[in-house]
Amino acid sequence: MAHLEHVVALAGGVGGAKMAHGLAQCLPPAVLTVIVNVGDDFEHWGLKICPDLDTVCYTLAGLANPATGWGRAEESWRVFEQVRALGGADWFRMGDLDLATHLERSRRLRAGETLSQITADFCRRWGIELTVLPITDDNVPTWVYTDIGELPFQEYFVKQQCQPRVLGFRFDGADRATPAPSVIERLRAADLVVVCPSNPWVSIDPILAIGGVREALQGRPAVAVSPIIGGKTVKGPAAKMYAELGIQPSALAVAQHYSAWLRGFVLDHADAAQTEAVESLGLVTLTTDTLMPDGAARRRLASETLAFAARL
Ligand code: GDP
Repeated sequence: MAHLEHVVALAGGVGGAKMAHGLAQCLPPAVLTVIVNVGDDFEHWGLKICPDLDTVCYTLAGLANPATGWGRAEESWRVFEQVRALGGADWFRMGDLDLATHLERSRRLRAGETLSQITADFCRRWGIELTVLPITDDNVPTWVYTDIGELPFQEYFVKQQCQPRVLGFRFDGADRATPAPSVIERLRAADLVVVCPSNPWVSIDPILAIGGVREALQGRPAVAVSPIIGGKTVKGPAAKMYAELGIQPSALAVAQHYSAWLRGFVLDHADAAQTEAVESLGLVTLTTDTLMPDGAARRRLASETLAFAARL
């Protein structure tokens, strides 16, 4: 892929991290920038938690828990058990190793460092050579409108376990937020933008909602990998969200979601029957195996996606 000089991946948590890890195995670190959703970020136990940034960074650093896809490998839960014993909130689990990230990040934020500065330094210390950027240093919390009222994202996602019926989303403050330093420059310079197989509604849309991002994407060669396979998500509520919003969950629905600015779409063999419909949106398609159960599958899918993009 020697001809690619600037590749930008847009990522949420689990699906985003897997794809970013695959791309990192195929591209030199100086070529790859991963821009990460911060709409899931929230405060808990007095600490700032950035679930998607941490999932992406732990995965890239080889520190992630392979069983859950989030949190750290070889984790222990001594602090969590003690907080619980003292009557603290226990609906959001944080292990001891993970807690160190939240403690140090929160301290630095209070001392005046920005989220992007802290992320860059954590990456350096974790041995991550490519650039990982939060989409913005501002607070842009995602709210979910549901049949039981408007819920902050983590209350919907973790506390209510995605049970309430979704009516819509609000990315609070996104229109006033400023993209983190170099985000717009990197998007404009990108010779390829890869939309990772992340949740379109609550991982990718909150990135696109930040002022200037959609404009910077216009005209960029962009390809997306479908997070929906055979009408279902691999993990998480994206398919349930489509259905509750009155849209049949499918790879085609994801392609439609992005079709205004996308050029290429990667869908699974399981959805091969939708190829023509996706192509009728004006998109070029690649049909392949899009499940990423292990490192080899991530690398293969990333390498096929890059080769596909080169043909666009
Ligand atoms: P979250 O913030 O942790 O929910 O992270 P993402 O939005 O990045 O990831 C959730 C999406 O990743 C779901 O819609 C899943 O279907 C998708 N996903 C997870 N693993 C895979 C995989 O191996 N292949 C594909 N194509 N999608 C995946």
